[in-house]
Amino acid sequence: MQFVDVIGQTVLSTRLRDGVLSGRIAHAQLFEGPKGSGGLALARAYAQYLHCTDRSEEDSCGVCTSCLAHKKVQHPDLHWTFPFFKKEGSGKSLSEPFQIAWRQLMLESEYIGIDDWLSKIGADKKQLFISVDEALEVNRKLGLKSFHGSYKVLILWLPETMRIDTANKFLKLIEEPTDKTIIIFVSQNADTLLPTMLSRLQRVHVPRLSDSEAALGISAKTGLSADAALSFAHITEGNISAAIRMSSSGVETPDLGLFSFWMRACWSRDGEAFMTGANDFASPGRESQKRFLTYALHMVRQCIIGNYGAKDLVRLTEGEKAFVSKFSRFIHHKNVVDLSRLIEDAFTDISGNVNAKVVFFDLSVRVHMLLRKESE
Ligand SMILES: [Zn+2]
Repeated sequence: MQFVDVIGQTVLSTRLRDGVLSGRIAHAQLFEGPKGSGGLALARAYAQYLHCTDRSEEDSCGVCTSCLAHKKVQHPDLHWTFPFFKKEGSGKSLSEPFQIAWRQLMLESEYIGIDDWLSKIGADKKQLFISVDEALEVNRKLGLKSFHGSYKVLILWLPETMRIDTANKFLKLIEEPTDKTIIIFVSQNADTLLPTMLSRLQRVHVPRLSDSEAALGISAKTGLSADAALSFAHITEGNISAAIRMSSSGVETPDLGLFSFWMRACWSRDGEAFMTGANDFASPGRESQKRFLTYALHMVRQCIIGNYGAKDLVRLTEGEKAFVSKFSRFIHHKNVVDLSRLIEDAFTDISGNVNAKVVFFDLSVRVHMLLRKESE
């Protein structure tokens, strides 16, 4: 993909291109930024720019052999590593069996989250990680001669899923680089990386998109109206991949009805209402379930923002405001962190194909306990 396809991030894009044009290219870089801010999209545009044989100051050309190969996600000097699980019966633990699925996902979307990847490979509840075997394999591949005499580029998505032994192998690769190799780590949680690793990477901060930037991008990618795009940008807090996914599930207005019904049921621990809610939650399918949980997280956050007096920050429709004005007193500093985490965990479970009714029921019971927690 080209820089023109990246949403927002114009200052950073210019800085990256200037680095290439002036030959200041760090061989190990860390693109770090919050979920959905576009680190992976930038890494792809950057790799294409590096390989393009007819680049301009503004962008890669889009039509040379290298650019066409990038467009098909088939450039022989672009290598990918990402979290995966060990397939049963396979000897070594390598990303190789997942490379086709990864390529498909890259072709489908420029903005993805871990849940898109989980759904793509049907990982169920398996823990995804980057293995030592994979680090050794990457080392071997990057040691080979490049196909087109240009840079060999490795994009490694989510280095935070490496275990320490894997990280140490990559550390060696960073410290003793092979010729004309560029390693780009793309992280959503860089603080969890080893300090020894962080200190050896050139850190590139990818800032969160503003709502208006995100809305423009969502509108361009999905064809939604500016208003609808802005509401998705609000709900997902500028997370482009989540917003695009929500918009493609086809429902324009997220379900305030189910959310308010559910919160009342959670408050009163109404078992019968839990069952009704679980059915309503489960029946429309995984994408709608994920959308509902994203919405729930948004509403919980809006309650807490409203509580702390930043009324003008609250991004709500009139109907939502009416609900929040009554309900927000039950959400406070003692329960908001745990509430958010529970909803995020439920989201991960749904992405990993756990039974939706079980997830909803379990979540409801836990939310009940947190809502009943006193604020003082
Ligand atoms: Zn080109």
